[in-house]
Amino acid sequence: MGLFGRGKRTSGFSHCKRCSKRILSKQQFVSELADKHSIRVDPQTLEFIISGAFVGGWNTVEARKREMQSTFTKVEKDRGVKCNGCGKIYCYDCLINFARPHPTTGGKACFSCGGSFSEL
Ligand SMILES: [Zn+2]
Ligand SMILES: [Zn+2]
Repeated sequence: MGLFGRGKRTSGFSHCKRCSKRILSKQQFVSELADKHSIRVDPQTLEFIISGAFVGGWNTVEARKREMQSTFTKVEKDRGVKCNGCGKIYCYDCLINFARPHPTTGGKACFSCGGSFSEL
């Protein structure tokens, strides 16, 4: 008998199996961008939604887009993926920096079983 049984985590957050960082699901990622950085993205495609109220024209929009892109990339490191083989969850950070390429999918391979990953 295990001490902790088989109960599900109730915190709503997953943690990276490699670095223990808290991981944002796609939905949490979208609300984090909106709440903390005032960046709106489409919850399906993750494309930026730019509202029309920019004064200053095209240059301002381009500058804003660049700023949004860099924040997006930063926050995206807290997103995660799930292994299709063993079900373990890892953060983008570990994946980008430490995972080996998967031999057939062209993506990254799981640290423990070598499987491919799906988006969380
Ligand atoms: Zn990690
Ligand atoms: Zn795996």
